[in-house]
Amino acid sequence: MNEGKKKYPVKKYYAKYYQTHKKQRHEATTKYIHKIRNKAIECLGEKCSNPDCLVPGGCKDSRCLQIDHIYGNGNHDNRKSSAYYNQVMKSFKKGEKKYQLLCANCNWIKRCENKEYLKTIGVPLL
Ligand SMILES: [Zn+2]
Repeated sequence: MNEGKKKYPVKKYYAKYYQTHKKQRHEATTKYIHKIRNKAIECLGEKCSNPDCLVPGGCKDSRCLQIDHIYGNGNHDNRKSSAYYNQVMKSFKKGEKKYQLLCANCNWIKRCENKEYLKTIGVPLL
C-alpha cells in the first residue's frame, strides 16, 4: 500500500529530540519516579514496619523509608525504575506479603542479621 514511500525516521527524530530536551526529560522522569515511589510508600503504610524501630511509633520520614523484600532476594530488582514501584503496588493489591517498609536503620540491621548484604557484594554465605 505505501510502497515507494520513504519511512519517516522516527527513531532519528526521538534521538534528536532527546538530545535537545535532555534536561526536561530527566526532570520529568525524576518527578514521575518520585510520585510513583510515594504512592508505593502510601500503599505500604507510610511508616517503618519494624515494631522495634528506634524512632518511637516507627519512622515516617519518606526520605529514610526503604521498600524491603520480606524474604530477601531483592537485589535483582531495578529500584530506580517506575516499573519496580508499580510491581510493589500490584503485589500489595494482590495481597501478597512480599514487601514491607523499613527505615534505613532497620533495613540495614535486618540485612546484617540475615546476612543479606553478603549476597549483594558477591561473598558466598557460610
Ligand atoms: Zn525503623
